[in-house]
Parts: sequence; C-alpha cells; structure tokens
Amino acid sequence: MADFRAGTPEQSSFLAELLACGMLIDCGVPGVYGRGPDFELVRLGFERLVGDALDEEAPQRMSFPPLLARRELERIGYLRTFPHLAGTVFSFDGDESDALAQEERAASSEDWSEFQEMTDLVLTPAACYPVYPALARRGRLSAGGVTVDAGGAYVFRNEPSGDPARLQMFHQREVVRAGEPETVAAWRDRWRDRSVELLRGLGLDACMEVANDPFFGRSGRLLARSQRAQELKFEVTVQIAGPEPTAVASFNYHQEHFSSLYGLEIEGGGPVHTACLGFGLERIVLALLRAHGLDVSGWPTDVREGLALL
Ligand code: ZN
Repeated sequence: MADFRAGTPEQSSFLAELLACGMLIDCGVPGVYGRGPDFELVRLGFERLVGDALDEEAPQRMSFPPLLARRELERIGYLRTFPHLAGTVFSFDGDESDALAQEERAASSEDWSEFQEMTDLVLTPAACYPVYPALARRGRLSAGGVTVDAGGAYVFRNEPSGDPARLQMFHQREVVRAGEPETVAAWRDRWRDRSVELLRGLGLDACMEVANDPFFGRSGRLLARSQRAQELKFEVTVQIAGPEPTAVASFNYHQEHFSSLYGLEIEGGGPVHTACLGFGLERIVLALLRAHGLDVSGWPTDVREGLALL
C-alpha cells in the first residue's frame, strides 16, 4: 500500500470543513470522496467554461472510461516513470474452494490477494493516454493537425493523502493538440495565457510556472531536470490549503514521444508533435471554495455568472 501522507493542520481543517458542510462525502479512504450537489454544480460549470473557450477550435470530442488497456500503460513506459502512482485491476481467478477460502479471509479482513489475478485493465492515470492510440488508428492527420477534447474524465493516482487537494481519483479536463511542431508549440503558448486568464476571471490568483512531473527514483530526478531545462511542462498554480500553491492545470509538451510511439503521421509528411492541457477540476473547485467561501450562493455575482450558477 502507498504511504499515507498526513495533511498539514491547515489542510486537515479545510478537509474537515468540506466534509462537515457536505461539499465532500467521506468514503472511508483518504483521497476518495463523494461530492455534494454544490461541488458538482461548480465542477460542471467550470467544464462548460472550458468547453466554450475551446469552441472556436472545433475540437473533436472523445470520451473514454476511467480504464485503460494494460498494454497501453506498458507501452507508454508508465511503469518506468511513475510505478508508484499506477493502479492495476485484479480480479478473482479460481474455483469454488478458492472462492470460499477468499471469502473467509476477506470476512476477517486478512490478505486475500493470492486469489486475485492481474486483468488486462489498469486505471487510467492521465485522461490523454487513450487519445494517442485512438488518433493513430484513424490514420494520417490532415494538415494543421487536430484538437481533441477528452472531456472531464476520471483518473487515478495511488497517493493517499490528508490534503483535500491531493485526491486518488479526480477529473482531468484534458485537451490534446497534435500536428506540425510549430502549430502545436503556438497552441501551447496561446493556451498558457488563456488558461491563466480563465482562472483569474473567476477571482483566483493564478500563476504560471515551469514545472516537472513527479518521476520515480534516481533516474526520475534526471528526467525531471531535463523536463524543466527544456521547459516541457508548465503548471498554473493557485493557493488552496498550501503551504505552497497547488497546481490546478498543467501543460505537457511531448514533442515526438507519443507520435513516434504510436506512429502518428500527417499529410505532407514531416514530424508530428503532441501537447496536452489538463485542468484538475476538483482542485479548481477547491480553489474557488477557498477563495470565495463554502457557501456558493454568497460568491461574487460575476463568478457565479461565469460558472452559469445564476
Ligand atoms: Zn495529458
């Protein structure tokens, strides 16, 4: 089991407030919460806002379940870079006597894992992962490439924490851009500004910074350094329950990583680059609750209008 990271006193008291007012609903495991009606209204309101901002790009919509073929996780190299965050689906594979033995162990809360076999499924760790193989299967991209709106999909990270902003399962609103290198770079630059504007428009004190992924182990530290040096990842951060501001959106520029992995091609030939933009929807709701208070009906009118809550 992953180590539980206790929240700071500020994070613990914010979590307690969120549970007490019904914004979040306890599920018995840290980092996995149900959500009350106001929380969902705000989350869906922000989803709409992103959808409206994307409209002019006429994105192609793709929706996937929060499960990924295990083969794709293996192919992407996730087990090298983030083995600590992955969630794998296991299921019962035995006969009647095994089922009985498993039930007995489970009834007394003992370890019943020996009766479980790995399936062909893992939990999706990033909402853009199913998009690349799907794009490749469609064949060559048209000149100018494509924008894919992967919607607000559930993703999983194995990191139980007492910080309400660090959930094990949350929605990522992911947008993927694939195309010629200069097209994708220009898209990334334009959206860096727009995403900050979008969040500032809701009264959040959002900042953009160069970032790195939480790669695993010693080789991961090298990867993180090179990712920063090449400015391949940016994050939009907002103060939630600190001490440091929390990332609420991130941009990853993959260069040819996914296109060469999946053999993405484009009309006219030449290299294909990809980049993605992901909004962490629960974190954005939490940032709004932190900034404007737990009573959504008392939020500033322009914020309520922006989120279509009026
Ligand atoms: Zn992504």
